[in-house]
Amino acid sequence: METTKTDLLVVGSGIVGLACAYAGLRQGLTVQVIDRDPFCVGASIRNFGFVTVTGQGSGATWRRARRSRDIWATVAPLAGIPIEHTGLLLLAQRQQAESVLQELLLTEEGEQLEWLAPTQLQERAPHLAHAHIRGALYSPHELRIEARHTIERLRQWLATQGVQFRMEQTVHQVATGRVVCGASVYRAERVVVCPGPDIRSLFPDVFARYQTQQCQLQMLRVRPPQGYQLGSGVMSDLSLVRYRGYRELPGSQMLEDRLRLECPSELHHGIHLIVVQSADGSLVVGDSHHYGAAMPPFASAQVDTLILAEMQRLLCLGSYQVEERWTGIYPSGNTDAFIETVLPGVQLMSVTSGTGMSTAFALAEECLTGKETI
Ligand SMILES: Cc1cc2nc3c(=O)[nH]c(=O)nc-3n(C[C@H](O)[C@H](O)[C@H](O)COP(=O)(O)OP(=O)(O)OC[C@H]3O[C@@H](n4cnc5c(N)ncnc54)[C@H](O)[C@@H]3O)c2cc1C
Repeated sequence: METTKTDLLVVGSGIVGLACAYAGLRQGLTVQVIDRDPFCVGASIRNFGFVTVTGQGSGATWRRARRSRDIWATVAPLAGIPIEHTGLLLLAQRQQAESVLQELLLTEEGEQLEWLAPTQLQERAPHLAHAHIRGALYSPHELRIEARHTIERLRQWLATQGVQFRMEQTVHQVATGRVVCGASVYRAERVVVCPGPDIRSLFPDVFARYQTQQCQLQMLRVRPPQGYQLGSGVMSDLSLVRYRGYRELPGSQMLEDRLRLECPSELHHGIHLIVVQSADGSLVVGDSHHYGAAMPPFASAQVDTLILAEMQRLLCLGSYQVEERWTGIYPSGNTDAFIETVLPGVQLMSVTSGTGMSTAFALAEECLTGKETI
């Protein structure tokens, strides 16, 4: 069955595909999006919904994160997506972590950040376990949206703006100007393929060239005591040896050496702490990182225990209840993201570093305009 031709056809309705549809609309293009599922159930609904700028390093990913954050701030109110909270508190438990954060303050990335001494932190975030914290770096740039509702709301809003969605259609073949889903053939001037962690079905050779594998994360939703207010997203010392922006600083090796002695299991499981809060007061807490060609679906109780112990060290919740546990997978490669022309008029776009919520809007602009984010 032949269908009407559009200017732009996007494969995948995760955040990368939706960002591409939005960028297409902004260029005045007619846009169709195809997805094999009735609604997105991929990485884009499983994440923290934490649009993170600080820690991305001072290169392209940081610039994309800043631009994408601005686009989120514009699009969220239009699409009826609440911003749950803003900002990020990087809590320093160890002297070596404090040194890394002080080093960050002296870089371009650190320009609008603020060091909070213990008394200032106590005022700003009274519900933390202050006895264990030497101070914190506050970043004002971050936004938090509720990923599981956001993606569907964004999709529905894009539909009201004219984007046509073809859900429950699996794309088997992509050629110049043409996408084949079973008996249906969709035609378009331009095709952008955004398949998330499905690195084997379409253009597997390109994913292989970027040494892409799957990265699986464990996540939890925790109910804190009534009235608990986090204020901003929170990260811990363990985050400073994971994110490039901190890892590249001279002091991070000393921090890592100490963490290797004190937290070998956490490092082994790629655990670091992110906590964000939802409108109903619950906390989204994570995460861990396990890599492989294919990931078994079994979530480890030991990993959850380690994540929750780090949470308790910093948040001091007293009693809490775990309400949900889930895993998510993103593609992980030797670059943060890539846009590759795979055929004339066909591009493959993938965020291969677990930063898609933070960078997709800017990447999509780059894909459609051919201009780098400044
Ligand atoms: C647990 C977890 C926490 C994270 N936290 C954050 C965070 O806080 N901040 C941040 O910036 N990033 C975070 N990330 C990373 C972020 O979620 C991803 O980078 C982003 O969601 C990737 O979006 P995507 O559109 O590429 O993939 P997906 O959301 O997986 O979407 C891909 C879509 O493509 C469709 N598809 C694939 N192949 C086909 C086909 N052949 N035919 C039709 N449809 C197809 C799938 O059905 C799917 O809907 C996190 C990731 C995980 C897993």
